[in-house]
Amino acid sequence: MRFDIVTIFPAFFSSPDASATGVLNFGVVARGLREGVAEVHTHDLRSFTHDRHRTVDDRPFGGGEGMVLKPEPIFDCVESLQVAPKSGRDTHRQSVILLSAQGKRFSQATARRLATLDRVVLICGRYEGVDERVSQLLCDEELSIGDYVLSGGELAASVVVDSVVRLLPGVLGHADSSKFESFGEDDAASNPTTESNSQDPPRATNASGGLLDYPHYTRPAEFRGVAIPEVLAEGDHAAVRRWRRQAALAKTLANRPDLLENAELSDEDREFLAGL
Ligand code: SAM
Repeated sequence: MRFDIVTIFPAFFSSPDASATGVLNFGVVARGLREGVAEVHTHDLRSFTHDRHRTVDDRPFGGGEGMVLKPEPIFDCVESLQVAPKSGRDTHRQSVILLSAQGKRFSQATARRLATLDRVVLICGRYEGVDERVSQLLCDEELSIGDYVLSGGELAASVVVDSVVRLLPGVLGHADSSKFESFGEDDAASNPTTESNSQDPPRATNASGGLLDYPHYTRPAEFRGVAIPEVLAEGDHAAVRRWRRQAALAKTLANRPDLLENAELSDEDREFLAGL
């Protein structure tokens, strides 16, 4: 899989073999990039300008605050990347994406979809934003990483790259790790009451099925007066599995009740939630 990031701050990312340290140079994502699971190429928008000052922005038509990123350097840059033109682009293989506070909300489901593509181009805005014709004529989608305004698209692009790369085969230690975590895909196996063999050891994470992950504990068993839930130390796999499911349900109800609307819930789950 290949990412191309269009930015006026390429040093923000830095490639895995560069000596400078960028946001993608850490942890499992850096390892995945080093091992060639995905490539990230950054493109300095200023290299696609033709004036002495390498101007990428201009004043907004209609007046008002701030500056707007000009379309020409962005078009020249993206067209140099040899992605298919928008009209003939196979969006099951390639996507040109504008990071924008006005975009559709980026989610784990979007990350899973992008992880199936060969090629993703990420255009990072700055200032007041990007000339609208970039979105209209060049991009397949506009993505927002949340309901707040960042000063530039670089952080948002990093969020997209990180969350997609870790889903690619071979990046996480265990193939199922990304399935059994917060916002995991709905899956019958995610529910302990439908799991094929409830005597199997609980997995490192125990399938959220669209819920938030359950709380995790490690040694020491007691820390600053707070003991781990006893069930986790008793070796009863079915009981651990049940506790994790219920803890995930409780956490989701407390922090993200909206997720419960679409989660796959058993009768037992519903009964547990009703009791909370
Ligand atoms: N005037 C714009 C608005 O009100 O929607 C905000 C522009 S923002 C200061 C500059 C750039 O940061 C945007 O063009 C976009 O690339 C990026 N950006 C800001 N917030 C974002 C978000 N929530 N998700 C993705 N990108 C964002």
